[in-house]
Amino acid sequence: MQKKDRAIAFAQVLENLYPDAICSLEYKDPFQLLCAVQLSAQCTDARVNMVTPDLFAAYPDALSMSKAELGDVERLIKSCGFYHNKAKNLIQCANQIVNEYNNTVPDSMEELLKLAGVGRKTANLILGDVYKKGGMVIDTHAKRILYRMGLTTKQDPTQVEMETSPLIPIHMQSDFCHRIVLFGRDICTARKAYCDRCPAEEFCPKRNPKK
Ligand code: SF4
Repeated sequence: MQKKDRAIAFAQVLENLYPDAICSLEYKDPFQLLCAVQLSAQCTDARVNMVTPDLFAAYPDALSMSKAELGDVERLIKSCGFYHNKAKNLIQCANQIVNEYNNTVPDSMEELLKLAGVGRKTANLILGDVYKKGGMVIDTHAKRILYRMGLTTKQDPTQVEMETSPLIPIHMQSDFCHRIVLFGRDICTARKAYCDRCPAEEFCPKRNPKK
C-alpha cells in the first residue's frame, strides 16, 4: 500500500472510531484557545480545563490579560507547571495581540510564530481549529503513531509535520490530529500498542512489516 493511501485509510479508520473528535481543551474564542494550548505544554488537557475557568473569569480577553499582574496569573495557573514562563508568555502574547494585531489572533503561521510562547504545534492548532486552514499538530501521540504507522521516518516534530502534511488533505488535518490523540490514549498507547484490537492493524507496517 502506498504511503498516501495508507494515510487516508488510517484517517478513515480514525473517523469511524471517533466521529465527533474535537479539541479536548475548553474555550470560548480564539484567544482563549491560544492561552489554553500554551498552558497544555507538559500538562494534561484535563488539568488545563480545571484551571482555565478561573483564569478566563479574571482575564476573559487579550486586553484584560495584557494588563494582568504576573504574580496574579502565576497564582491562577500554578498547577499547570512551568507557571512562571507560561504566565509571562500569556501576558506578553496578549500585549502583542492588542498592540500589533488589532486585538485579533493572527491567521498565518508566520505571524503566529512571532507571538510569545507560540511554537508550530500551537500555531497549527489555531490555523486548523479556528481558521480552518489545516495544520498537522504534532504532539507526543501524533509523533509516535505516525512513526509506527510508517507515515514518517522522523522524530523531530517539525520534520514529522513537513513529512506528513502532504499525506493528509488539508480539510481533514485538524480532525485527524484530534482523533490521533484519542487513539493514542486508547489503543496505540505509549506504554503498549494494543494491536490485537486495533482497527488499523491490517495495513499497519509495525504489525505487518511487509505493508
Ligand atoms: S496495529 Fe498496533 S502499532 Fe499499528 S497503529 Fe494499531 S496499535 Fe498502533
